[in-house]
Amino acid sequence: MMPLVAIVGRPNVGKSTLFNRIFGHRRAIVEDVPGVTRDRNYAEVTRYEKPFTLVDTGGFEPDSKESLLQQMRQQSQLAIEEADLIIFLMDGREGLTPSDMEVAELLRRQPKPVLYVVNKVDGEKQEEASLEFYSLGVEELLTVSAEHGRGISTLMEAVLELL
Ligand code: GDP
Ligand code: MG
Repeated sequence: MMPLVAIVGRPNVGKSTLFNRIFGHRRAIVEDVPGVTRDRNYAEVTRYEKPFTLVDTGGFEPDSKESLLQQMRQQSQLAIEEADLIIFLMDGREGLTPSDMEVAELLRRQPKPVLYVVNKVDGEKQEEASLEFYSLGVEELLTVSAEHGRGISTLMEAVLELL
């Protein structure tokens, strides 16, 4: 079976945009409104030297009785159970949020490899804003712009190295 790479993170951080960027086609629905991603999306990515299955987690229910945090915990738990590698995506425009910290804590307490990635770093100027994410206590932080393709080759190198 191909290794499984899961993208987790809050609604609207750009998971589906990154999924489409890595997959190389548009499959996941990108939404301007947070919390509207429907099902989990799986795609086989075969254009790198190691093929893998990519999962765009989502499935947040805007009207759910469960809080965003509870849903994020579930999403992360599922990824931890099924994935071989987790891409934890955050939003460099919005900055570090309490739910990012919660999920980071959850991810730290499990053995699967995690890449901490700050999205929406569209240019040099946003690089500096991404530094606050180091307060999560992570050794390495990658910055990308899923929308503009910035930092994606470095991210892919890191993914392939861990698979
Ligand atoms: P998801 O809920 O995490 O799947 O997020 P989406 O992929 O649906 O994206 C949410 C919003 O963020 C959309 O309006 C995207 O166009 C926008 N977005 C995604 N990636 C980037 C990026 O790299 N830079 C900027 N500026 N916006 C982005
Ligand atoms: Mg989505």
